[in-house]
Parts: sequence; C-alpha cells; structure tokens
Amino acid sequence: MKTQSLLMELYKNPTAELVYSVLTLDERFSDEIHEFSANVRNKVHDRVIHLRGIIEISNYCIHNCSYCGIGRECSGVNRYRMSEGEIIENAVYANALGYKTVVLQSGEDSYFSAETLGRIVQNIKKKADVAVTLSCGEYSLDEYRFLHQSGCDRYLLRFETSSEEIYSKMHEGQKFQERIQSLHSIYESGIQTGSGFLIGITPDLVSLTDDIMLCRSLDLDMIGCGPLIADPATSMKDFIFPFEKEIAFRTMAIMRIICPWAHIPATTAFDAFSPQGRVKVLDSAANVFMPNVTPLKFKLNYNLYPKKTSVDESAELSFESSKKLIESRGFITGQGYGHSIRKGYFQS
Ligand code: SAH
Repeated sequence: MKTQSLLMELYKNPTAELVYSVLTLDERFSDEIHEFSANVRNKVHDRVIHLRGIIEISNYCIHNCSYCGIGRECSGVNRYRMSEGEIIENAVYANALGYKTVVLQSGEDSYFSAETLGRIVQNIKKKADVAVTLSCGEYSLDEYRFLHQSGCDRYLLRFETSSEEIYSKMHEGQKFQERIQSLHSIYESGIQTGSGFLIGITPDLVSLTDDIMLCRSLDLDMIGCGPLIADPATSMKDFIFPFEKEIAFRTMAIMRIICPWAHIPATTAFDAFSPQGRVKVLDSAANVFMPNVTPLKFKLNYNLYPKKTSVDESAELSFESSKKLIESRGFITGQGYGHSIRKGYFQS
C-alpha cells in the first residue's frame, strides 16, 4: 500500500496491524508520516498550542518504580514538599504570568490525601482563574469524585506499559489492573482523563503497538508519552533506548493520527532524549506544551530523570521563551483553558 493510503487508512480505521505497519515503515517515509500527523493536528486544533504550567509539589514517593529517579529507595534525593500556601501562591503566580492551566504533579506522597488536595484545588480556584490538572497517583473512585467536586478539571495517570508482566516487574507492589481501574474511576468521576506510557519500556515494536492501541481504546482526553530516560539513581541506570530514535517521534505522530481529538503534550523527556526533541514533537504531533513553574529551589530536586534543559530557568523566563518558541514555529498560543474537545469531536 502506498504510504498516503496507509496513513489515511490508519486515520479512518485504526487497527494494531496498521499501527505496526506504520511503525515499521522505512526511515525514508518519516517526513511523510510527520507531515500527515501535523496536518491532522492543524485541522482539528487550529494550530493552537496550549500552555500548562507545571508545579512539582513534592518529590516524596511511597513507590519504587524501577526507572524513576524519585522512587522511595533512590539515594541522594533531597526530599521536599511544598506547603499548601506555597502551592496556592505558586498557582496564583503562574496565572499572573498568563497560564490558564496549572498542573500539580508529585510522587505518590501520602501527605497529600484527597482531602488535602481537594482543599488546595478549592483555594486555587478561589484565587486564580485557572483550570487545575492533578498528577499525584492513585486514589479511589470516591476520592476522585471528591477531587472533581473540589474543582479538579483534569487528571494525568500514565499506565506506563500495557504489558501486565513488565508492569509488575517495574512497579514493585503495584498492580496493572489497579492502575487501569484508577483510570476508569477518574473517567467515571467526570474529570478529564489523561494517560500514556513510557516509550522504550518494552523492547519490541509489537508491545509498542499494544501500548499505542491501549491509548486509543481507553478513549482518553489527553495522551502524555515520553521516551524512558536512564536515571543514574535507579536500577535502570544502564538502560539503552531499544529502537531508532525516530520510533519515539513516530509513536507521537501515530497517536495524533489515531486520536485526533486528544490533547497531546510535547513532554520534557523528549529534550533529554534528543536535541530539540520537544520542538520536533511540537512540529509533528503535539498541541500542548508544559513549561515548568516550580520555584527554582524545589525544581532542582524533582529529578524523575536527568533533565537536560530548562532546569535552572525561572518560571517567568520559561513562559516567555515557550510562547516565543510556539509563535516562531507558526503556531498560536492558546488563550483559554484548553479543555478537552473529545466529546465535541465525536458530535461533529
Ligand atoms: N506519581 C504520579 C506522577 C509520576 S511522575 C503518578 O504515579 O502518576 C510522571 C511521569 O514521569 C510518570 O508517569 C513516568 O511515566 C514519567 N517518568 C518517571 N521516570 C521517568 C524516566 N526515567 N524517564 C522518563 N519518564 C519518566
């Protein structure tokens, strides 16, 4: 099948076979794939890129995920937890800079009960004109419902891998089915749901195809993926990305083609992965960019993996430079909250 008809078929009727065929196309077809994906994004999202300010509220974690640099047993981590007041103040500051969404992210820190998180969200909503996304790990359906009632708009919880076997190997004491159940609970609570996986966590393209197809079948509002980066503080310190780098970029393009409605960020991990990696994802597939607005003194200690860029950049600088970057690539910076368009997409 010619590349264009293959891509059109993938767009119209995504199947695992088609995803695999596109993943395995020769590198000489890469430009054509990325161009197709960019056209889908431009058509559905009007060349608008939403900026979300990310606040890393705590690097305490009860879990010990094999790849993650802030896991419970990682040594040499300077642990910190922002106070409720600091988080709210930081969200208000992000809003003053121009952000219409703040994303609060943390390790799975038992200090942040649903009640505490809910109170923080309520206070942010009283003081700032922003949508709030949380990315703080697993809670129960009732707790997600409470968070929704407290004003939480969106929640990010990656399933990390669709392989149950690899999931249990890499997430000591955690269960894949519980992760998926949490995602269903987020969805059921009425919160816009985001998930995704670590590209390269499984070393073969059949499993990568399964990961991509799971994003599609979960019917997500947001899809966040990034390549796995070796962190020296973890047991995966010698990890080597198992594919050509193009596979990571192509994964994002395929995701865009099969989930046109989804909010897809160009994640920071792409910059640690490849020079200008985030820009490449922005050019080809993403419609969301997430600058870091964590106060500098904390941000330096939130190392999920060794970051190569923006670690010492102030929040103010990262907003301005992201906006400039977006506009220099011919995009428009989103002015609104940038809520999910999934339901509208299927009605039209
Ligand atoms: N505690 C929250 C947030 C986790 S951090 C939760 O459980 O969802 C956010 C994401 O960073 C993770 O879901 C994981 O996919 C990613 N991440 C962690 N370590 C990484 C690494 N070494 N390389 C790339 N991404 C990583």
